[in-house]
Amino acid sequence: MPLAGAAPAAATVSADRLAKLVASYPDHLAAVVDDILVWRDGTRMTIGSDRPARAFEDMVRSATIADQLRQTYQPGPPQDRPARDESPGRLRNTAFFVKMYGDCAKGGVTRLMRPVAWMPKTASQTIQLTNVNDVAARMERVIDLLDRLPDRLKAFLVPSAGTYNCRVVADTGVPSMHAYGAAIDIHVGQSDYWAWASRRGEIAYRNRIPFEIVAIFEAEGFIWGGKWYHFDTMHFEYRPEMFG
Ligand SMILES: [Zn+2]
Repeated sequence: MPLAGAAPAAATVSADRLAKLVASYPDHLAAVVDDILVWRDGTRMTIGSDRPARAFEDMVRSATIADQLRQTYQPGPPQDRPARDESPGRLRNTAFFVKMYGDCAKGGVTRLMRPVAWMPKTASQTIQLTNVNDVAARMERVIDLLDRLPDRLKAFLVPSAGTYNCRVVADTGVPSMHAYGAAIDIHVGQSDYWAWASRRGEIAYRNRIPFEIVAIFEAEGFIWGGKWYHFDTMHFEYRPEMFG
């Protein structure tokens, strides 16, 4: 009998997912050897593949590298509302991302960031994104396409509600991808967020963001918070390892 509240996730992480992880971050990751992730600089991190899945609310606070890969992000138009606790990308191993992007509390993230013009053909706004993994350059390719969309779609994008923010996610205590300069929130006034819609423990899914916008981000390796049970429809973050 499954544990109450257990996440709908496999107990182990496949070799394919681990290979995809290494391939997703070629500047940083070298190989997987047994249960160890080997970085290009020789750093070794335990993956945790042999440990069983825990309840989602436990994994989200202390995700192993294996936990980070237990769910898969499906690109393309959403088929259904997300299943209970199916929030692919919300599990993040803090040591993994601090190693890759820096520790924002120690100033390690901002020195790797640069300014990017958000929707320059539409409105004047400067956002800050990390150069690590070419996130800033990828976002510029996203912006080039977003800036060609019709006005009815640009209304969801302008202004951006922000990128870099050295903070933890309120309900988990774990840094979000905003703390690494690798996430963006689009127009908050056109967005929906699970914590605004949560009543008596049940989350009523809601979204207004058209998929044409999401598809442009997905093509550059950004996942969308609108595909999460804990939905955050203004939110995109660079997570190429999550794509199925
Ligand atoms: Zn966000």
